[in-house]
Order: sequence, then structure tokens, then C-alpha cells
Amino acid sequence: MIEVSDIVQYLYCPRKLYFIKVMGLKITRPKMNVGKEVHENVGKSLTRRKIEGEILENVYLESQRYGIKGCVDAIIRRNKEYIPVDIKFSRFKSLFYQWKMQLVAYAVLVEENFDCKVKKAYVYLTEGKNWIEVEITPEDRKALMKIIQKVRDIIREEKYPRASKSKKCNYCEVARFCV
Ligand code: SF4
Repeated sequence: MIEVSDIVQYLYCPRKLYFIKVMGLKITRPKMNVGKEVHENVGKSLTRRKIEGEILENVYLESQRYGIKGCVDAIIRRNKEYIPVDIKFSRFKSLFYQWKMQLVAYAVLVEENFDCKVKKAYVYLTEGKNWIEVEITPEDRKALMKIIQKVRDIIREEKYPRASKSKKCNYCEVARFCV
């Protein structure tokens, strides 16, 4: 199964995904475990915003239909409505496409496992304590399917992707291996 983090890395740069999945490079991700304190802050912030519902934390899910797996930082459950939440330790304030598609991936995971329709999701930015609401559309689900296929192709074919040299290279954890 493809991990949701593979989708994020592919959208950052296909070559980065190659280094991680084909060459086996390990990169450290500080948010691997979202701690109790962060979840408490998320809970308080939701209350302040008068967003009610039970919060499920660190929910590991798999989707047979999409062939993906991942751990959702939080899911707001309110009656039959489910809203995935991704927590970002980032100073950026706007939504990146890879963040959006990560939420779409979480949305399809939640839909398959909780037998529901996810219409929206949130990114919670811990630095500024900001919430970004993201609508999940049928087009997003189709786009996700195509991205998953491309991720699969890179892993299966083991072909070194072309570099997408950009400002991102300055922040890329695998830059010193990338020639
Ligand atoms: S250094 Fe740039 S081109 Fe190379 S993997 Fe990273 S983002 Fe991609």
C-alpha cells in the first residue's frame, strides 16, 4: 500500500519520492507523533471556535479501494459527519497543493472506514493557531487517484525522475544526494 506521506513527498518533488522509496533514504519528520499537548491545544482551539464534536486522535486507516494507508492526526466526529484534521508545525499560512491532497487522501480513508461522505477537512497550523478549511470535491478524489498511480509507477519502474529544480530545493532534505 502507498503511504499518504508518499503522496505528499511526490507532490513536493517526484525525485524526492524516488530517493525515499527506491533508494531507501530516511528523512526525519518531526511531526511523526503528534503529542498529547498538541491535541489538547487543538481541542481547546476547536472549542473556542465553537466547533463541537468528539475528537478521535491519531487514527490509523487503510483503504482497499485506493490502495493507501495513513494515520490521521485527528478526526472530528459529529453525529454522522466526519472531518479529518491534519496538524502542521509550519510557519506558512497558506495552503499548499500537497497539503490539500493529503487531506483528500485522509478524506477517502475516513469515508471507506466510517462509511460516510467527507465534505471538508481542516489543516491546523500550530505556529499561528490558524485553521484552514478545505472543501473535498469529486474532482479532488479523481486527482488523488491519478497521483497515486504516478507514485506507484515511480516505485515499480525505479526510473530516476527529472529534477524539478525550484525554491523547494533549498528546503529539501535529500538535496545533497540530488545531482
Ligand atoms: S533537491 Fe530539488 S530536485 Fe532534488 S529531490 Fe529535492 S526538491 Fe527535488
